[in-house]
Amino acid sequence: MQSRRNFIRNIAMAIPAYSFAGVLLSSCGKSDIDKLKTGKKIGIIGAGISGLHAAWMLQKEGYDVEILEASDKVGGRIQSIGNLLNMGSSELGAAKVYGQNNDWNQIVRSQATLQNSSQNSSTYFIDGQEYSQTMMSSSTDYQSMDQRLKQLSGVNSGSDMTVENYMETMQVPERVQFIFKSKTEQFLGTSIDRASVVLNSLEGLEKINQEEYQSNISFEEVLMRQYGTIYPTIVNNTQVISIDYSGDKIKVVDALQVERVYDQVIVTVPLSILKIKSSQAYGIAFKPSLPESKIKAMDMLGMDSSLKIFLKVNKKFWSSESSSIYVNSKIGKFEILKSNASSGQYLLSATIHGENADILNNMSETEIIDLIKEEWKEQINETASKSIIEHKVIFWGKEKFIQGSFSYHKVGSHAETRTELFRPIEDRLYFAGEACNTKNNSGTIHGAIETAKEVVKSISKKQA
Ligand SMILES: Cc1cc2nc3c(=O)[nH]c(=O)nc-3n(C[C@H](O)[C@H](O)[C@H](O)COP(=O)(O)OP(=O)(O)OC[C@H]3O[C@@H](n4cnc5c(N)ncnc54)[C@H](O)[C@@H]3O)c2cc1C
Repeated sequence: MQSRRNFIRNIAMAIPAYSFAGVLLSSCGKSDIDKLKTGKKIGIIGAGISGLHAAWMLQKEGYDVEILEASDKVGGRIQSIGNLLNMGSSELGAAKVYGQNNDWNQIVRSQATLQNSSQNSSTYFIDGQEYSQTMMSSSTDYQSMDQRLKQLSGVNSGSDMTVENYMETMQVPERVQFIFKSKTEQFLGTSIDRASVVLNSLEGLEKINQEEYQSNISFEEVLMRQYGTIYPTIVNNTQVISIDYSGDKIKVVDALQVERVYDQVIVTVPLSILKIKSSQAYGIAFKPSLPESKIKAMDMLGMDSSLKIFLKVNKKFWSSESSSIYVNSKIGKFEILKSNASSGQYLLSATIHGENADILNNMSETEIIDLIKEEWKEQINETASKSIIEHKVIFWGKEKFIQGSFSYHKVGSHAETRTELFRPIEDRLYFAGEACNTKNNSGTIHGAIETAKEVVKSISKKQA
């Protein structure tokens, strides 16, 4: 992760001098003219993908935009690191491009090469036994579990229950329940005992059947190349603590008591932050308070802790064609991110959400690695357990201005919940970000972009 100063220095280095200067010059000239054109100043709270995309579009349309970002970074839940555990660049947060026909896929494709990384082959470890994909696929237990997984996106009506209740009702065989759990939790952003099956079926759970891709350059570099022109409008280390929309202009105050005034404001902070009471640390006070319907919508949605664990191992204990391993344990799935056959070193990663993330959050990094070693010793073998030579854990739930992974519907939520969260107030105070997505794309980068586009459309329509 890097500071804004480094970040801007790096853009200058990453983009050829002539194109960077050209972009800046053309954007300066254009925005001067356009400021006259719209005469409106728009404040955007949060420099995650939705904030960046909204600012980029608005700037092109001639608005004067300013992004207030609490942290010293840009990208929010998209964070890349140049060299992780000496295995090259890695994504500490979002890592995959989901689906084909969406803006994020097109943006990354325009800057980089995308490789289909849908995982077709895994190695499975159950009670000390190793199973290849072929062996698992031919077992009736696995087939029944896989069929239930594929059917999940169809469970979009009827009486609601948790995904766990559904798994039990549909009699997914106990032996392979951990695979069902790992595959669903990765898209739910929480554990199966917390999420509604009906309301998440067309959202997170639908992604089980989608294609996924990986970029050959870091997402951070994609952001720089795509949104470089708006970086000068970002004010980092500026934690917004209150938004007063009672008067003609909207007054935004930061933690250092600096007040800024805008015609319109777009709030893109994560749901977890929006949910915090204004009297508590990191909460935002709205004056007047947000409508009851919006507060209820926030209650219906969850955004839980998550951790991303990176392990460097010096033994390959899975079959060559596998892109992931499943282990019948608390941390059920590891992806094989990088292989360096010449040094015999491999980089693996696991993302844990919900209940297990809460447990791991109370442990130190060393305790977590010891737990993995213990589980691997039991479920795989001693060689695997001893192969872990380096590690890094990212606690997303403990990131002050993020506090979780991504949003999901709790049981009791309803189809209108996200619409309510997304609804602007008085056509001046707008909400964007993954949790506001009403097109079944919550919890994703492209879903967050969609909300930014819709907000910009509403602002432009109002201006016209
Ligand atoms: C571990 C993990 C893995 C993921 N994997 C994928 C994946 O592979 N593919 C995918 O498509 N999606 C993935 N996602 C989801 C994806 O990252 C998010 O949906 C998307 O990045 C959210 O963008 P956003 O703009 O809505 O919010 P954010 O990126 O969270 O941006 C909000 C910004 O608001 C700032 N902020 C918070 N409070 C304040 C305040 N008071 N004042 C000012 N600023 C504030 C934050 O610092 C942050 O920068 C993953 C997420 C996580 C955590």
